[in-house]
Amino acid sequence: MELDGQVALVTGGGQGIGKAISLALAKDGADMIIFELNLDKAEEVSKKIGDMGRKCITVKVNVANPEDVENGFHKAIETFGKIDILVNNAGITKDALIVRMKDEDWDNVLNVNLKGAFLCTRAAVKTMSKQRYGRIISISSVVAFMGNSGQANYVASKAGIVGFTKTVAREYASRGITVNAIAPGFIQTSMTDALPEQVKEAMLKEIPLGEFGDPEDIANAVRFLASKDSGYITGQVIHVNGGMYM
Ligand code: NAP
Repeated sequence: MELDGQVALVTGGGQGIGKAISLALAKDGADMIIFELNLDKAEEVSKKIGDMGRKCITVKVNVANPEDVENGFHKAIETFGKIDILVNNAGITKDALIVRMKDEDWDNVLNVNLKGAFLCTRAAVKTMSKQRYGRIISISSVVAFMGNSGQANYVASKAGIVGFTKTVAREYASRGITVNAIAPGFIQTSMTDALPEQVKEAMLKEIPLGEFGDPEDIANAVRFLASKDSGYITGQVIHVNGGMYM
């Protein structure tokens, strides 16, 4: 299989898009590490991966916490000896119009979505540099390109991912590490389930393909970027949004 013998780490891999990515990479042959706040959910995913004949460890890691991330990478390297693929997927929203946005909501979203990707990427490039191979994929969002009322913190974090991706891609190209991002449109998960019906209806009208995406649509793009076939692609953003943004 495409990823046989490789080791992939997915943050927030217990549900939604992260779960679909974890299952897809394991299906392609990778052994898995899942960083997650809620280990119960991660354990369920881990069990499914075990049933596929792959190894999987779950580690309770808040990606915004430097000590947690350091301990998580220590455990990953201790178990598998290397990490070939990192998927920065963990993310949160704390929506409010800017005049009502609390400092802590700004900080929390930036810390999880952007600092979390920084902490995990910094730890990953150390080990990937030694093996002169790596694939880093971060989950941005269509709103990084369009803006979205009520999401100044989230949009700033997801636009930050784009600049961060391009910079790390330049810094590590000579080490055989590719660094790319995926910008999903509206994908059906608990994050979007929380939106009011009229917002969902309005969004659906903006999608030329006429339907919301599934977590597997994002996982399919990750599979490609995680594979050897994507070796000449770095510093790019792949848009997976049903045509919502072109
Ligand atoms: P989700 O269902 O809410 O899943 C997010 C996952 O991240 C959860 O498993 C959550 O764990 C985990 N997580 C949150 N904070 C964390 C932290 N500090 N440390 C470790 N894990 C943490 O959301 P989703 O829709 O699958 O979103 C996945 C990614 O895609 C996010 O980065 C999101 O911004 C992005 N995205 C989603 C959409 C969409 O339409 N759904 C569109 C564009 C981009 P707990 O449940 O235990 O808190």
